[in-house]
Amino acid sequence: MADNNYIPVHEIDATKKRVHPRFVTGFYQNIRVVSMYFLFVLFLVLPWIRYEGRQAIWFDFTGQRIYIFGMTFLPQDIFFFAFFFIIAAFSLFFVTVYAGRVWCGYACPQTIWTHMYQYTEKLVIGERNKQFKMDKQPWNGEKILKRGIVQVIWVLIAIITATTFTSYAVGTDYMYHSWATLAGIPVPNWSTLTWTSLFIFGFCTYINAGYMREHMCTHICPYGRFQSVMFDKDTLIVSYDYKRGEPRGARKKGKEDPSLGDCVNCTMCVQVCPTGIDIRDGLQVECIQCAACIDACNDIMDKVGLPRGLIRYSTERQLEENQPSKILRPRLFAYMFVLTALFAGAIFTLSGRVPLQLDIRRDRNQLSSVNAQGMVENTYIIKITNKTQQAHEYSIRLLPQDGLSLDSRFKTIPLEPSESYDMPISIIGDPKVITQSKTPIQLEVVSVDDGGKYKAVKENVFTTD
Ligand code: SF4
Ligand code: SF4
Repeated sequence: MADNNYIPVHEIDATKKRVHPRFVTGFYQNIRVVSMYFLFVLFLVLPWIRYEGRQAIWFDFTGQRIYIFGMTFLPQDIFFFAFFFIIAAFSLFFVTVYAGRVWCGYACPQTIWTHMYQYTEKLVIGERNKQFKMDKQPWNGEKILKRGIVQVIWVLIAIITATTFTSYAVGTDYMYHSWATLAGIPVPNWSTLTWTSLFIFGFCTYINAGYMREHMCTHICPYGRFQSVMFDKDTLIVSYDYKRGEPRGARKKGKEDPSLGDCVNCTMCVQVCPTGIDIRDGLQVECIQCAACIDACNDIMDKVGLPRGLIRYSTERQLEENQPSKILRPRLFAYMFVLTALFAGAIFTLSGRVPLQLDIRRDRNQLSSVNAQGMVENTYIIKITNKTQQAHEYSIRLLPQDGLSLDSRFKTIPLEPSESYDMPISIIGDPKVITQSKTPIQLEVVSVDDGGKYKAVKENVFTTD
């Protein structure tokens, strides 16, 4: 956006008074509430979903496994997560260039939890004027009671958040069924790590949503700080139409005052703002694009009989230059191109992924030896990992190669879901046939109990040195 409209981060007053927004209803707030509570419920419900007998989404860090429905990811699969984060980053860039901070206003956890905490204050204490009044009044019975109830609800939300968050890592079975009895009283029998995680997430939720609020967006969140760089003249942003609104001033309903613009200076747009700013001062880094000011102003416009849209989603090109916005523009195309390529790459890689891992490493202490029958012998350690959700039996074989044969202790190797097994194998070479010092070999592992559905092949070398 144009610099003259944008209030930079260093000019934000971090010492400003606590914000108690007025809650408003309207088209955008309805969408926002549905989006926020849908995401919150999804967050609560996801760890309870089971898939093939196991928690469907489980970040089992102690077991070094991540389960996402039917897929099991090991540390070697970190590449997929890097890929996922790159896709998420480009999606955010794309959405930001097109529609500004919709993520902040409609889906960001900071916004969702702050909304819940502010709504709790409204339910217990009352609308914003009552909250300001209570801030100023001395501590009496009513203040202690109401503030106490707010604190209890905030702490409960923080506990629910922390236990849910931690259950994604430790599993719901452990989180909610791990109890012991101490002096006849049942207490959670959680590990130190679990307690630490609960404390950190609970504390951060309480502090962020209860006290940090908009300061988190303006001083800590990197996205909040760099989003202005991504905006261009055609980015959709919540804007005050100052040409139409100014000069602002109160007037009587139905009475025309040609010296005034359409803004009746009711300050409703400021009162509903969860970050406490005045959108009429121009685009500011604190604005999370929640559109509460649009709904509030539309209400006022209805009441005074003026057209809606004094505050609206608009672009700098529309507002400043009175030109239609350009939806299709090079930067959007570039992001779209990169995103399409990344999605195609992710789908291709995931669809070709075999849930069976085979690793081979050579015994470094002994490259080759000659056995009693005069044959050359190489020893390897192989590791087979069953990355499916079912138990399987696997067989291993050496792909045909003249003069070479496999010597393994096991005919088949049974493995439970996500289980790995390390075992030594030997490859025997006939020195009359194997004349080169290094011969490429291929080992194949196949699931035998399901007719060879899963197969993995790895290459290595057979050496006579
Ligand atoms: S809500 Fe609309 S009319 Fe009221 S002060 Fe804000 S911009 Fe002006
Ligand atoms: S200025 Fe409007 S859109 Fe921005 S945060 Fe405040 S209420 Fe939300």
